[in-house]
Amino acid sequence: MSNSAPADISPDAAHLDEVAAGVFGYVQPDGTWWINNCGVITGPDRTVLIDTCGTERRTRHLLETVQARTGTRVSTLINTQHHGDHTHGNYLVDEAVIVGHELCRELIVGHGITKYEGIFDVEDWGDLRARPPDLTFRDALTLHIGDLRAEVYYAGTAAHTTNDIVVWLPEQSVLFSGDLVFNGGTPFAIMGSIAGSRTAMEFLRGFGAATIIPGHGNICGPEHIDQVDGYFDFIQQTATAAHSAGLTPLQAAREADLGVFGELSDSERLVANLHRAYAEIDGLPPGGELDIRPAIADMIAWNDGQPIRCFV
Ligand SMILES: [Zn+2]
Repeated sequence: MSNSAPADISPDAAHLDEVAAGVFGYVQPDGTWWINNCGVITGPDRTVLIDTCGTERRTRHLLETVQARTGTRVSTLINTQHHGDHTHGNYLVDEAVIVGHELCRELIVGHGITKYEGIFDVEDWGDLRARPPDLTFRDALTLHIGDLRAEVYYAGTAAHTTNDIVVWLPEQSVLFSGDLVFNGGTPFAIMGSIAGSRTAMEFLRGFGAATIIPGHGNICGPEHIDQVDGYFDFIQQTATAAHSAGLTPLQAAREADLGVFGELSDSERLVANLHRAYAEIDGLPPGGELDIRPAIADMIAWNDGQPIRCFV
């Protein structure tokens, strides 16, 4: 055991990292469940924000930090997908137009604020109110922020969710990948697709990005696309062997040798990913309807019956 103090994972530990002139990743340690990253693109008189946070206090901290750094108001907010860790704070950016995929809007309108009671152990969500995107699209759109061009693309398939989008800055070679890329955490596709995630990695490679701001974890390079793809390859191989051997996803997870992926945080996602992979072996298309309750129950079983540890 190390004697060093535990790392600071409070909202105060978040940092704005400038990756190109006026372009920032807002990185929140330690990137585990609900602790996401955001993006900031500053223009001469306005700011574009990419994603909010899962709780009121984390989003307030984000907005204060962005305001202090840029001195301009957030005119546009882009949601990379519908999950609450990226959208719960939308209502606090009340003057901004919110851009998202049309399925992102549909899911937020349909489900509102999602706290997954009894699954995650969160002390203080704050006074959350659902606010879906106002401006939706299906395939692509381009935003102009001063001279800076930001291209927004749908991933083209269900992957992490059904509505993943990325923001690409061609002149800066910077890609905001949302949760298509996790750095240091276990990739997760229970609400999207394992096969689709692999297709999405091919899509991400196509940008040839020098810098990636992942949905969780530190800013990284394109080599992390291969790591995520390798993880989903491992999931497919494990599922194929275990499915034909008649194992349940939980049995398969308990027998699996994670190898290098054992170093990733949030390892219980393994069993949920196997549920999705099993369904795909049985013919479910990417993003197809899947009752996620058995997968969640198995993550808790993997976790010795305790709600999933998280630090928001
Ligand atoms: Zn996330």
